[in-house]
Amino acid sequence: MFRILMFLIIILISSKERLMGQENSIYIKAGLLYDSKENKLLKNKLIHVQGTKIISVGGFESLPKNSQVIDLTQYTVLPGLIDAHTHVLFSQDADEDFSEHSIKSLTMESDALRVLRGAKRAKSYLDQGITSIKDLGNSGLYLDVALRNAINEGTIEGPRIFASGPILAANGGQIYGVLPKHQNIIDSEYRIITSPEDAKNAVREHVNQNVDLIKICADNLPNKTFLTLDEMKAVVQTAHSYNLKVTAHCVTNQSAWNAIEAGVDGIEHGFNLADSTLTKMAEKRIYLVPTENSKDYMNTYVKLSGYEETGWIDNYLKIMKDRLNRAIDKGVPVVAGSDNYTDIKVSRGESSTDMFRYYFQAGMKPFDILQSSTYISAFYLNKENEIGYIQPQANADIIAVKGDIINDFISTMEKVEFIMKDGNIYENKTD
Ligand SMILES: [Zn+2]
Repeated sequence: MFRILMFLIIILISSKERLMGQENSIYIKAGLLYDSKENKLLKNKLIHVQGTKIISVGGFESLPKNSQVIDLTQYTVLPGLIDAHTHVLFSQDADEDFSEHSIKSLTMESDALRVLRGAKRAKSYLDQGITSIKDLGNSGLYLDVALRNAINEGTIEGPRIFASGPILAANGGQIYGVLPKHQNIIDSEYRIITSPEDAKNAVREHVNQNVDLIKICADNLPNKTFLTLDEMKAVVQTAHSYNLKVTAHCVTNQSAWNAIEAGVDGIEHGFNLADSTLTKMAEKRIYLVPTENSKDYMNTYVKLSGYEETGWIDNYLKIMKDRLNRAIDKGVPVVAGSDNYTDIKVSRGESSTDMFRYYFQAGMKPFDILQSSTYISAFYLNKENEIGYIQPQANADIIAVKGDIINDFISTMEKVEFIMKDGNIYENKTD
């Protein structure tokens, strides 16, 4: 019996090796290659891709004869981009209230319909060259995990998803104004934490459902409830014991301060961060995901939402620009994320690329924006060996843009003409 078993295992291993040997080799000639770790451009590099992985990065002279070549000598080649803050299973109209829309979705949109709609939104990221997304809740009971699995197994096309599962939050979550007798509806969208012990169990439930990271709401504004320091500490300790990162939605400075004290890995939004909080983040290497929008986006949004008053936009952008620049000056790691979930009448992926425009308008340098959308983003997911950097053994997530990325950043980023994820080519307008 044992001999038969060993025989079968040997057959299995050797056939796997044969299959590996047969995997298609593709060589990509990059006129310019963005080195996301060193944050600079390299000239004339040859990327060898086999199957789903990058095998090597070398000079053009290492191209073997009679090999399959993709000529990107007229392009700038980048690692697939990462949007570190998405909600693909949630979409509201500009004139809709967040809480009312959430209740409507939870009571009138079936999980099946919600996932199918989410699948279409997810695919639209891939179409923009965003090959990975961190999806941070508002996704029902682990519908994000289901969508991730469907993409990973090849059932549908989409970006690599890092899923958080339901957001851990204090009473009511972010869905304000719900009567006590209907609070149970919220349990289908948030994991409501009632004590530090409960917080530990909530993380274990998430681990059991195979999430990739934990998202908490340190505060729930405009709902007034917030997680206590001890609850957040319990979340972080348990999550870290399972090697999961914890990222915290924070609107107020106080909730961010508490989340940092509790040991979270990152702060989402952080609209009101004080200098002292930013200094602490820089010291502890806690990243910030600034989720603002460009002036163009805000104008579209305001028009669709029917607001009469638009004077506040400039002031809002000024405050946000100031906060981003204070963070950068203090050395806080910046991770790029859009948080776009409003329907502004373009695809979700297209809407999310507004983050490049915003960061640029706020004064970030093109290379720094690219690094925040690739290497730094991957690094804070513990995935820098797999995504966000074109290097041997990494997943073959590779895109190419046409134009001058240094002097004409915004319009160049709109011209993504080659998209490869996991070695599969999804777009190639280059021939
Ligand atoms: Zn969000």
